[in-house]
Amino acid sequence: MKESRKVVLIGTGMVGMSMAYSLMNTGGIDELVLIDIDEEKAIGEAMDLNHGLPYSFSKMKIKKGNYKDCYDSDIIVICAGASQKEGQTRLELTKINTKIIKEIALKIKKVGFNGIIIVASNPVDILSYVVYKVMDMDKSKIIGTGTLLDTARMRYLLSEFLNVSSDDIEAYILGEHGDSSFISWVNTYVGCKSILEYIDEKNLDMNDLSDIYLEVKNAAYEIIERKNATYYGIGLSLNKLIQSIFDNTNKILCVSAYLDGEYEHSHIYMGVPCIIHREGIKEIVQLPLNSVDQEKFDESYHVLKKIKLEIKKDLEL
Ligand code: NAD
Repeated sequence: MKESRKVVLIGTGMVGMSMAYSLMNTGGIDELVLIDIDEEKAIGEAMDLNHGLPYSFSKMKIKKGNYKDCYDSDIIVICAGASQKEGQTRLELTKINTKIIKEIALKIKKVGFNGIIIVASNPVDILSYVVYKVMDMDKSKIIGTGTLLDTARMRYLLSEFLNVSSDDIEAYILGEHGDSSFISWVNTYVGCKSILEYIDEKNLDMNDLSDIYLEVKNAAYEIIERKNATYYGIGLSLNKLIQSIFDNTNKILCVSAYLDGEYEHSHIYMGVPCIIHREGIKEIVQLPLNSVDQEKFDESYHVLKKIKLEIKKDLEL
């Protein structure tokens, strides 16, 4: 990759712009190009962000662009499409968003892009697969945000409950970014200590941990009921992923990756911990799952596989 850092954002809605604002505050990106089917919106968003630059740490160039801008960009982030309405599951967005994301991926492919594509639109595991199929690129370069946000929610809530910094909570939400996701408690640590030993020592109850997980699982529904959409959390999650790619620090993040035998499954995108480097996903980290967790992983796989089969026809190129 070249030295300058160029990001193209496709979909300048709440999620995309929360990411853009977060990137602006972190700095380190040289150019940010905004693309949206609603061109006036993309122009307005670029104007609004640019007007804040004099007071920002970042000096990145921000403009409304088009698909030609993808050609020499390092990372493309897809946040376009319909979002969940109250009471709606992520999977219910499949039909409409598969069509939108397929069209977008075909346009990216046409300009000969060879960088990294991050997908945030929902259902993110399915749409990452759609992009992978259309682009026909190395699997390491197509990354879905997967359970990155769920994992952050879990770490935050555990940190509040245990009164330990979220930096020292090692916890991963695995599987679908959706109702079949789960946490592997045997692979959850407070510092170097297993959380199961930790709560035992502190006379805490396993039911409290289960309640915390339910809070994570229902977080999006709760937020959408109150304010119609969720965006700051995913905006910051996207920022973390982008910075980890550019900084090339081999950070482990829980993202949606193409499984090729890992966790006993193949030909599907699911949330798993991955080592992230400048070329995308360097390695999928295989956690030792016990039989209960493997069963949960399998269930999540079957939920996604069913949807994948349903969109098979829509994926024909
Ligand atoms: P939004 O409605 O605010 O924005 C969507 C944007 O996409 C709009 O600006 C719209 O004009 C644009 N768009 C639609 N079709 C397009 C196309 N063909 N080409 C270019 N742009 C197009 O929605 P949002 O709240 O920003 O959510 C965006 C997506 O992110 C949704 O699918 C939502 O479910 C998802 N999401 C994911 C996570 C996660 O953890 N991965 C979290 C929250 C939301």
